[in-house]
Amino acid sequence: MNITNKKIFSNKALLPDGWANNILLEIDRAGLISSVTKNCDKSKISFDLNEDIIIPAMNNLHSHSFQRAMAGLSEKQSPGGNDSFWTWRDLMYKFLDLLTPEDIYSITAFSQMEMLEAGYSCVGEFHYIHNEIGGNHYNNIAELSEKVLEASSDSGINICLLPVLYERGGCDGRELIGGQLRFKNTFDSYAKLIEKNTELTSKSDNFSLGVAAHSLRAVNDYNIEKMISLVDGPIHIHVAEQVKEVEEIEEAYKLKPVEWLLENQDINKNWCLIHCTQMTENETLALAASGAVAGLCPVTEANLGDGIFNGLEFFKNKGIFGIGTDSNINISLVEELKTFEYTQRLKHKKRSVISQSHKSTGRAVFDNCLKGGSQALQRKNGKIEEGYYADLISLNPRNIDLIGLSQDTILDSWIFASNYNLIDNLWATGNLLVKNGKHIKRDFIFSNYKQTISKLRSKL
Ligand SMILES: [Zn+2]
Repeated sequence: MNITNKKIFSNKALLPDGWANNILLEIDRAGLISSVTKNCDKSKISFDLNEDIIIPAMNNLHSHSFQRAMAGLSEKQSPGGNDSFWTWRDLMYKFLDLLTPEDIYSITAFSQMEMLEAGYSCVGEFHYIHNEIGGNHYNNIAELSEKVLEASSDSGINICLLPVLYERGGCDGRELIGGQLRFKNTFDSYAKLIEKNTELTSKSDNFSLGVAAHSLRAVNDYNIEKMISLVDGPIHIHVAEQVKEVEEIEEAYKLKPVEWLLENQDINKNWCLIHCTQMTENETLALAASGAVAGLCPVTEANLGDGIFNGLEFFKNKGIFGIGTDSNINISLVEELKTFEYTQRLKHKKRSVISQSHKSTGRAVFDNCLKGGSQALQRKNGKIEEGYYADLISLNPRNIDLIGLSQDTILDSWIFASNYNLIDNLWATGNLLVKNGKHIKRDFIFSNYKQTISKLRSKL
């Protein structure tokens, strides 16, 4: 793709040291910001585009893209009426018996298009469907990774592919069954998958690679270090989403999952622990001190009834957190940020929980998630600064919710007050992918997805 806007003038922009006015951003051929000049006299400089408000784009640190096609299909009461994460998971397994590689391509491209339109420039794809229906490996062990990467090339999103190791059905070593068989790898087959993915992700600057253990429940403890040694990149794991899962780990390892990881692994800034919704106070403080990212997915966690993260304690202790769209039940950056703060308000019965004396709530949540997202995917973005990727959003100044506002109230109004998606344009690695709120390939991606989703819904 070509970098179309090499020089962007913005009336206002959120820089690392705060809001600035009359900024000229220059973007080089590699999609990096090559200079940021504040307080320019607009009449005396040349530029390709004039925006009103520019802020950094966000990283979506945790997604299972294929689950976008299930969104909204598991909201009915099941027999017995005791619906939970586990009843949602049953639908997911049924769904897995239908998906072809082509379906995975079109669902992934569609969900990535929605992510870009929502304000995400990079996604951490926690990719765990690897096998054919029934569980055999494809002839090409990385067949489905290739489909995910092909979708990323077409949508233009930057992707950190996180192939997932999933070995067993539980801590007792029980076998995987049904839909789960599509996830299965032994450590040796996983190492082959990583080898192939190393080759695939080296083909584009928009791709990077990390490793992921599905969970302590699904991976043998002795394979975690071996898994980490395969790639020099981020390490992700589902950690403490459900009470039942925590109990299973505790019974097997005599420690809660976060405790076990902190005691048995070198948990540091390379790690991202997904769904820290079931942590004790000690785990919360120790994780904050470790420098690892707590990866929260507030909308999915609310949808699945997971529980509420100890956000205030974590934040007060300088813990690093970021957000992900996880099940993709509703791909909306604003909804994730808002739900994160609102669940904290409901938990603590107070307002503006995540805020600082010099930053509003919207700004504090946004800044923290930028930092955590960049760290979790090890991408040099999230700051409008020389040497960082030009992953940028412009907001629509014509919208009633932004007219006349300045500085942090822009973010507050966008996140808490608006019913609309206020993203006007989005650039990922300097490429303009969303223009006037619409992805540049929307019609093509949408029509592929429409065919796929119509076929799948007729079979469910
Ligand atoms: Zn997940």
